[in-house]
Parts: sequence; C-alpha cells; structure tokens
Amino acid sequence: MAKYEPVIGLEVHVQMGTKTKIFCSCPNEFGSEPNTNVCPVCLGLPGALPVLNRQAVEYAIAASLALNCQVRDKSIFARKNYFYPDLPKGYQISQYDRPVSEHGWVGIVVDGQHKRIGVTRVHMEDDAGKNTHDGYRDSDRYSYVDLNRCGSPLIEIVSEPDMRSADEAYEYLTELKLAIQYAGVSNCDMEKGNLRCDANVSVRLKGAEKFGTKAEIKNLNSFRHLKLAVEHEISRQVALIESGGRVVQETRLYNPDLDETFTMRSKEEAHDYRYFPEPDLVPLTISAEWLGRVKALMPEMPACRRRRFVEEFGLREYDASVLTQERALADYFEAAAAASGDPKAAANWVMGDMLAMLKAANRTLDDTPVSAGRLGELVGMVTKGELTGKMAKDVLAKMASTGDDALTIVEREGMKAISDTGALEAVADQIIAANPKQVEQYRGGKTTVLQFFVGQLMKATRGQADPAAAKAIVERKLGG
Ligand code: ADP
Ligand code: ZN
Ligand code: MG
Repeated sequence: MAKYEPVIGLEVHVQMGTKTKIFCSCPNEFGSEPNTNVCPVCLGLPGALPVLNRQAVEYAIAASLALNCQVRDKSIFARKNYFYPDLPKGYQISQYDRPVSEHGWVGIVVDGQHKRIGVTRVHMEDDAGKNTHDGYRDSDRYSYVDLNRCGSPLIEIVSEPDMRSADEAYEYLTELKLAIQYAGVSNCDMEKGNLRCDANVSVRLKGAEKFGTKAEIKNLNSFRHLKLAVEHEISRQVALIESGGRVVQETRLYNPDLDETFTMRSKEEAHDYRYFPEPDLVPLTISAEWLGRVKALMPEMPACRRRRFVEEFGLREYDASVLTQERALADYFEAAAAASGDPKAAANWVMGDMLAMLKAANRTLDDTPVSAGRLGELVGMVTKGELTGKMAKDVLAKMASTGDDALTIVEREGMKAISDTGALEAVADQIIAANPKQVEQYRGGKTTVLQFFVGQLMKATRGQADPAAAKAIVERKLGG
C-alpha cells in the first residue's frame, strides 16, 4: 500500500426540493402511492412537451454558487439515450457539453491540512423512476415499476480527481452536503435518496505522473459506505496490480454486508448515449440580472460562518464547526448569543444542555420548547451572576416543562444567586464553628477537607451560592 497513491473523484446527485417536477407540474414528492404523481410529460408519452421549472433553475444556480462555480449565461439541455424500464421516455434530459456551471471548488480540512477539491461541473437533469424487485423463487418473483420519481429535478455535481484518500472523499461529501443544505436547495436526506454518490477510484505508483485506470462504484447511499467502499476498492486494486493483474474500467457495486465491491457492468462511454441537443427545449439563458437576484438571496456559507464564529465570538474551531453543522442550529446559536451578551457561554449552553434536552425529549430545533431568545436571557443571568450554573440548569428544565421564561420562574420560586459576600461569610462562619474536627484536619494539612466545607455552604444556601465565591470565602476563613 505504501508504494501507491489513490486517486478519487466523486459524482454526486442531489434531488432538489422544488414543489413540482423539473419539466411538468406533477408534485415532486416522496412516499406517495406508486404511479400517482404522473402525467403525459413525465410518463414520456409521445408528443408531450417539457416545460422547464424556473425554481429548479434557481436552485441549480444557488447550488452552483454554493460550490464556487461559474454559472454559464447559456447552457444547453441534451438527450442522454438509454433504455431501462424505469425510463419510459427512452432518454434522460440532461446537460452535456454546456452544463449550467463549471470550475468550482469545495474546501476541506483533513488532519489539520486545508485543501481545495475542484468541482468540474454542475448540470441539471431529470430523474428516472424506481424499480423494486421482490420475491426469490421463480414462481413469485415480481419487479415493480414506480414512475413517481420520473422527472424529479436533479443536479449532478462532478468533482475533479483531486482526492487522495477515503477520508478526503468523506470530508468532500460532508462539506458539499452542508453547502447544498445551507443554500436551501435540498435537505440532502440520504435515506430518501435525495443525495446519492458514485465514487471513481484508481491507484498509481507514488510519484507517477499518469493516473491509473479507474473503477466506478455506484449508488453509495451513506457516508459510512462511501468511506468503506473506497477503502476496500483501493486495497483491491493494489492487490490486483501487485499480483500482476491490471484494473479494468468498469462499474462496480458495493456490498456492505460482505464489505466488498463486485462488477456490475463494463463502463459505458459518453458516445454510447448518443447525446444530442434536446430539440424540445430552447437553450437556457441566465442573465446577469437573474444571476444577481439569486446571488443576493444566498445565505452565508458554512465555512465563512465557522470562521466568523471563531473570529467574532472567540469560539474554539471545534465548537464553531459543531454549531454550523446545521443552518438552523447556527441561527439558533446566533440568536441566543445576541440575547445573552456572552457568545462563548451561549455556545456552551446550546451545545451542552440545550442539545441534550432536545435529544432526551426526542425533539428538534424546529419544535424546541425554549426559544433562542429565552435561552439567551437565561445565559445572560448566569453571566451577570444572578443565577449559578446549577440553578440555571433547573430553571432551563422548568422553562421547557412550563413554557415560561426564566425571569418568571426565578421570581415565582424565589431563586437568586447569593452574591452578597457578607451573607455568605456569615453562613461560612456558622459552618466552621459547627465542625471543629474538620477544621483541625484542614489546618493539619488535609486540604481535601476544603471540599467538605464548600459542600456544606452550598447545601446551607440551597445551591444559591456561587461555587467559586463559596470556595474562596471558606478557604480564606480556614486559612485565617
Ligand atoms: P467518464 O467519462 O468515464 O465518466 P469523467 O472524466 O467524466 O469520466 O470523470 C468521471 C469522474 O471520475 C470524475 O469525478 C473524475 O474526477 C473522476 N476520474 C476521472 N479519472 C479518474 C481516475 N483516473 N481516477 C479516479 N477518478 C477519476
Ligand atoms: Zn408529470
Ligand atoms: Mg462522465
């Protein structure tokens, strides 16, 4: 393995979240009764004509911008001809030599190393339907064809062969997915097939100039499978070459149960598809003005937001990346930070207590019982010393169960951090007087007894003392 260098390029399909399909007005929906969301256009009936969905174009532009691609002012739809039972038209409407955008990149970090992975192109196309195969004995074997997915709007994102390890491929797909989600183009739900990935893998001797022959692994439907399949394929190719064989260009499938890839078919070439310009659609023209309008609606991208969280709020890199993992989470954090006046503390509360609480209640940020503004208020009260951390945890739980805000709960329950040192000192004096044996132990050098006194003080104040202040007072009094 040490002699070889892997080369990886990914082809990723994203189903865009439009209301309707790309060339007709059927609903673009997952999970409907089979063959109910169909019409003459998406069924490919003769003479039916496609009409391009404006929203699909705007999503394709948004995805292109999110991936730093240059959008063409003129792109061309092309027919990609092939037969399959889930493709009644006999061709996919795709884009070929003039895709909607090109020349982009995705930034990744692996082992602390920053790297840009090139994005060759983004093109738009319609999806095919879905075949399901059932039964295993000849007498009860059926194949089902569901055409609901025919005409769902896809973009295909093709990377340059820039990745050099399975980890880099994993990071690339992670960042790509995040960018597409932020751009609002798709939820990228892999379980629903809204994000699908094919991996092209080859190996070459380290230092070699030319790439080796690649194999393509199709239909990787999870991040874990991508990583395992690529790792497996790299070892397979190295072993093959080392034993005197050579890699053939082909399409393979990954079997996660056996952790191996196997031949699906020999690789088709572009000319097999007999691409030609789609005669039923005019060229797609994207004016500077239209592009500008889509650009103006783009949100801050995850990488920028992560950097800003570090620079503006002083968060640690790791925390910034956790908080930007979802746009909704980043929005929630920013709103909580603003309301608290203490972004670092807000970050800890959001990542810690808040997420734990949602998880325990099996909820998401969409239906959180505690709004960002209210969490921020609570955090602010801790920062100002009005509540101790422990009290705030109790208050947060009560906010979730009652729906009241922090101030209401604190006032109702008479909760208040004792920051008045005079009051704390009086209680500390009583505790010290009541425990002469422990005082003697402490003064005799057993300093761990300090914790006993702090505990007593916290108990006597029903947790309302600030632990740091309590410790300082007890320490000073015992010392004296
Ligand atoms: P094809 O015409 O066989 O589909 P493309 O040039 O369109 O090949 O590339 C398809 C994908 O394969 C791209 O993501 C590209 O980066 C990747 N790729 C191309 N050559 C190699 C190679 N030798 N090893 C690994 N990946 C490659
Ligand atoms: Zn339709
Ligand atoms: Mg290709």
